[in-house]
Amino acid sequence: MKIYPKPIFHAIPGYEMVMEFNDPSVQLHGFIAVHNTKRGPALGGTRIWKYDTRESALIDVLRLAKGMTFKAAGADLSLGGGKAVLIGDAKLVKSPAYFETYGHYVHLLKGQYITAEDVNTTSADMMHIAKKTPHVVGRVGKSGNPSPFTALGVFYGIQASVAFVFPKKKLQDLSFAIQGVGQTGSYLIDQLVAAGVKQITIADINPSHVESMTKKYPQIKVVSQEFIMSLPVDVFCPCALGGIINDASIEQLQAKIVAGSANNILLDDQIHGPKAMEKGILIAPDFIINAGGLINVYHEHHSDYQEAEVKEEIKRIGNRLTRIYQMAKRDQIHPFAAATAYANQQLK
Ligand code: NAD
Repeated sequence: MKIYPKPIFHAIPGYEMVMEFNDPSVQLHGFIAVHNTKRGPALGGTRIWKYDTRESALIDVLRLAKGMTFKAAGADLSLGGGKAVLIGDAKLVKSPAYFETYGHYVHLLKGQYITAEDVNTTSADMMHIAKKTPHVVGRVGKSGNPSPFTALGVFYGIQASVAFVFPKKKLQDLSFAIQGVGQTGSYLIDQLVAAGVKQITIADINPSHVESMTKKYPQIKVVSQEFIMSLPVDVFCPCALGGIINDASIEQLQAKIVAGSANNILLDDQIHGPKAMEKGILIAPDFIINAGGLINVYHEHHSDYQEAEVKEEIKRIGNRLTRIYQMAKRDQIHPFAAATAYANQQLK
């Protein structure tokens, strides 16, 4: 019978629970942070990353857990915010025993935290966690891979943004630049092409991802990653990294709409939100537009999972964004500030 090392609980102001666990026998070391459970149990993915230090992992889990509180509240879900980070090189540490041990620690929280996939974890990994705890979603045969659902929400968000900025134009007549054609970016392209969009330019640092898109859609143009943000297009879709709207890039942006899957796109929302507004660029708040994956796993946790119901709920991302844009216009604030006010309202 395996003996698990005892976890340590850290008291961190502003957080309901932060647990650290370390089991060298399976190379597992990480944190689970629960930020807020006012609206329901904290649901958030488990990320594996090569953090340089334990402290940088702790900072990341706290930031990500708080972000989940806002994402769930912004999507009107009865969920709170939490997240987990595991320290290590995913290529080296992952094993069934690693995830089963992690599942033991998730289970100790008795459902206060529910886990799911994130960077470097998959539906298959969730199945190993599920051997030790029922508090896991994104399992194979259930809600599965969240990325197509995230991309679908982004697509509805783009439709709403286009209707707001170019009320007389049709989506299929606009031009798009897409940064990152991994999971979400590639599914988003499927949606855009299906809607009749013809002018799509992409960039990705991974040549095999670029190749698979151009093979599938030969009409797609490719540029090198340093040019993708300065193209004269109508819509720029960030589907790779956070922090990409910053002092330098905002000067180069020619698109009138920025709407994509990437998290935390504004490097500093206090500076770059107002700056984008000044320049007449509409930026879709990331935690509203990219909530499709969360809505998908929420349905696995709260009900008998029905894909059609999930898609109906994801459609509402479009209406929600329209309301946020109208609120921002009325109050003369940028959409990110309006979205934060909306989520805060939900948390009262
Ligand atoms: P992914 O790793 O599958 O795809 C990201 C792609 O971006 C990769 O192809 C990568 O090569 C490329 N890339 C990295 N740096 C780049 C650069 N500088 N220029 C151009 N391309 C670059 O990731 P994903 O799951 O598609 O997620 C993308 C973003 O969306 C992330 O910020 C993620 O946190 C966010 N997000 C994803 C989901 C989801 O369901 N997958 C949900 C919410 C938010």
